[in-house]
Amino acid sequence: MAEFTLEPSDDQKQVREWLHGFAADVIRPAAAEWDEREETPWPVIQEAAKLGIYSLDFYAQQYFDPSGLGIPIATEELFWGDAGIALSIVGTGLAAVGVLANGTDEQIGTWIPQMYGEPGDVKLAAFCSSEPDAGSDVAAMRTRAVYDEAKDEWVLNGTKTWATNGGIANVHVVVAVVDPALGSKGHASFIVPPGTPGLSQGQKFKKHGIRASHTAEVVLDGVRVPGACLLGGKDKLDERLARARERAVKGERVKNAAMATFEASRPAVGAMAVGTARAAYEVALDYASTRSQFGRPIIDNQGIAFQLADMRTRIDAARLLVWRASWMATTGKKFESAEGSMSKLFASETAKQVTAQAVQILGGNGFTREYPVERMHRDAAIYTIFEGTSEIQRLVIARTLSGVPIR
Ligand SMILES: Cc1cc2nc3c(=O)[nH]c(=O)nc-3n(C[C@H](O)[C@H](O)[C@H](O)COP(=O)(O)OP(=O)(O)OC[C@H]3O[C@@H](n4cnc5c(N)ncnc54)[C@H](O)[C@@H]3O)c2cc1C
Repeated sequence: MAEFTLEPSDDQKQVREWLHGFAADVIRPAAAEWDEREETPWPVIQEAAKLGIYSLDFYAQQYFDPSGLGIPIATEELFWGDAGIALSIVGTGLAAVGVLANGTDEQIGTWIPQMYGEPGDVKLAAFCSSEPDAGSDVAAMRTRAVYDEAKDEWVLNGTKTWATNGGIANVHVVVAVVDPALGSKGHASFIVPPGTPGLSQGQKFKKHGIRASHTAEVVLDGVRVPGACLLGGKDKLDERLARARERAVKGERVKNAAMATFEASRPAVGAMAVGTARAAYEVALDYASTRSQFGRPIIDNQGIAFQLADMRTRIDAARLLVWRASWMATTGKKFESAEGSMSKLFASETAKQVTAQAVQILGGNGFTREYPVERMHRDAAIYTIFEGTSEIQRLVIARTLSGVPIR
């Protein structure tokens, strides 16, 4: 029986220190510039690739860490550096997970290396699910994938939105409807290989935060991909659709497989939020210790010190929820109380709250771009929105706990 411990292993500590060094020396100093430029920070990604941080090997090592803590520890450190730049670094991993979770060994071996490219020629990947009329309501998706049997090709048509790295990625993973009668059970994921005609970038969004991360629409106009680009393959899809149709005829509720995947991926977003919250808290603690008013450091006032105590307590609690959910996902524990959603909900709300408190503790300086908490506060706003809003997390948790289809 393994002993219970919350102590990271020596390997995990080493990785954490290494990434912390990169976040402190390379990411943080570049953060303000790329936030202002609102462009993908290619030089920083290239530097990460040179060091092996932006690589399939490194990502796979963390992903397959048997304790489950590899991804949350690495993610927290990178996002401590800067959320926009870190998202540019880990965005590819989010698309890679889509392939790891649903792809065949051959698809994993073919496409994931092309998502990262080589240290001297880095590439990105994008995961495209959201649409203008299908955000929280994934079942409203309209992008269609139709099979052309004669050519063994799938034809994709539709518009995706909010895609991180959309249009600038080498490989796009696109979720599309293959059977509209089945709602979200009738969806499938496709690889769109580099340079495929018909895929183009639509509007690039100007954002409130994480501005170094590229977010854009992706337009699919008669995009033809080989049959081999259907993740998991046609036989598996046909079996899955046949099962879903059978259950639909019998009126049975089918458990959505995508929900289980989300439960497992949401803690990673929680870890991003913990990184941003910790960064803002540290700036606020330092500032409160050095800024004097009324002849004493402002931290001498309980009004400030108690806020810092609450901030740190929430951050630690958020990290524990994230670690628990990541450990559960990796060790195959069942998410009986939507623990993945809980971790994302609590960590993202914590980041919003803690960064707002940090702005307040820095006073006028907190409101300026001279200090990083202003940027961190803007960045933190994304965590309660993407990968399922806070309202959707509450819906998932409440439904899981009650068994009632709460609306
Ligand atoms: C910067 C950024 C990057 C993103 N990256 C990606 C990406 O790489 N790939 C991708 O596919 N998507 C991505 N997204 C999309 C993101 O996941 C969606 O924005 C999110 O799911 C919310 O969808 P929506 O914006 O359409 O909001 P809506 O679904 O329209 O929600 C609007 C509001 O209504 C609330 N609401 C909706 N339904 C309910 C309900 N049933 N009960 C209570 N409240 C409800 C929501 O919580 C929210 O507050 C990204 C978004 C952003 C902003």
